[in-house]
Amino acid sequence: MTGFLRSRATAARRVMASTAGLIGSDYTSEEQAWGMLDRLFSPFAHALTAAAIAIIACYNWYAHDSLASFAAVACVGPTWLLRVLLARGFRMRGPKARVSKWVRLFAMMSVVAALGWGVSLSILIFTVQGLPLYAVFALICAPVQGASARAYAMPSVLIINISIVLGLVAVASTVFGIAIAVPISFLYWCYQIGFVMELVALRRKMLKADFDRHRLLEQVTHYNADLASLNKQLSAFALTDGLTGVGNRRDFDDRLERCLTSQTDASAPLALLLIDVDHFKRFNDVYGHLIGDECLKLVAAAIKRVASRSGDFVARYGGEEFAVILPATDEADALAIAETIRRAVETMELAALPEPDARPTVSIGISIAARGSNIRPHALIASADDSLYLAKQSGRNCVRYGAATQRPLRHSA
Ligand code: GH3
Ligand code: MG
Ligand code: MG
Repeated sequence: MTGFLRSRATAARRVMASTAGLIGSDYTSEEQAWGMLDRLFSPFAHALTAAAIAIIACYNWYAHDSLASFAAVACVGPTWLLRVLLARGFRMRGPKARVSKWVRLFAMMSVVAALGWGVSLSILIFTVQGLPLYAVFALICAPVQGASARAYAMPSVLIINISIVLGLVAVASTVFGIAIAVPISFLYWCYQIGFVMELVALRRKMLKADFDRHRLLEQVTHYNADLASLNKQLSAFALTDGLTGVGNRRDFDDRLERCLTSQTDASAPLALLLIDVDHFKRFNDVYGHLIGDECLKLVAAAIKRVASRSGDFVARYGGEEFAVILPATDEADALAIAETIRRAVETMELAALPEPDARPTVSIGISIAARGSNIRPHALIASADDSLYLAKQSGRNCVRYGAATQRPLRHSA
């Protein structure tokens, strides 16, 4: 029993200490607070109690020809009207409305309403005669129960409300000579407070669970977004050449396969360039592999600057060789682009290299997949390779196209 009372007292202390008695204010989200206020502002239950007071007043007038009970209606009517107006204002609040403002308004309205109910019920105690007085005492339970049933949302405010109503009724009863109503009102008050505390404990658990669920959901969404971006980075890494930053061989093979598969009779021709850095072994031997690496990066960047139309694709084919896929490009355009690349490498800015005195050059071989040719990737690559071989044979630092017949020469060289 003492344990029960102690737990109730602790709960009561915690409730009264929270902001305006809005329970769970330590973890209640704005959304939860608006939901609570929405239910608290509903004037429906009050309309029913006001109607019951009006019925008792009418009965008193009809049975005893007394208009005095209408004072209770006159008292509770404006209180109810105030509730309706505030409920309307709450429903029509703007997007910038603040919870704290409406919590304060509700607290003030609750005190005014408690005074309205208490005074009007006290008037009924003084003015109703005979048996209907029992009905008045039964009616006292309505606003008290109504308040305590919703006290889970804003307990301290509604406990004050219940106390005002029952306090005024107890005073009125004592003055009227029904002193027995005082201890009964007190017991009733204790019962309501116990009931409110139980509701509060339950509500706190629900709010906390709801809040935790939201937080977990937010975390999961956040982690999912991180995971998606990491996956994106990972697949980009898997398809990128680590040294030069252009596509790698796997990316090149996939792209070429896809480009050729999607090429129809109506599509424009597609060009493939194979680019090889000339005498790169010698370059490495003279300047070292680290400068060789820097040189490869510069060559890749120069190629990318030229093959920069949407759809153009640059990859490191292997070692010091690069491949460029040029969709919608015929022979003339391919020759022009390849020549631009050759010149871009020949004239590229070498200030970034530690020992930049020997200019690297490139040889470029071209092959074309004509529209509707159904050529397979390996055949297109072999054809570009033959052209490249011809470029090497022609003295390097040049562009060649269409050299299928030259292929055997390569093996004899
Ligand atoms: P050619 O003009 O006939 O192409 O002569 P080459 O010397 O360029 O051709 P070769 O195939 O004999 O040598 C290619 C060189 O490219 C050998 C290798 O050391 C160098 N190489 C390949 N990959 C890399 C790399 O990632 N970094 C550096 N620094 N060198 C590389
Ligand atoms: Mg090579
Ligand atoms: Mg080479």
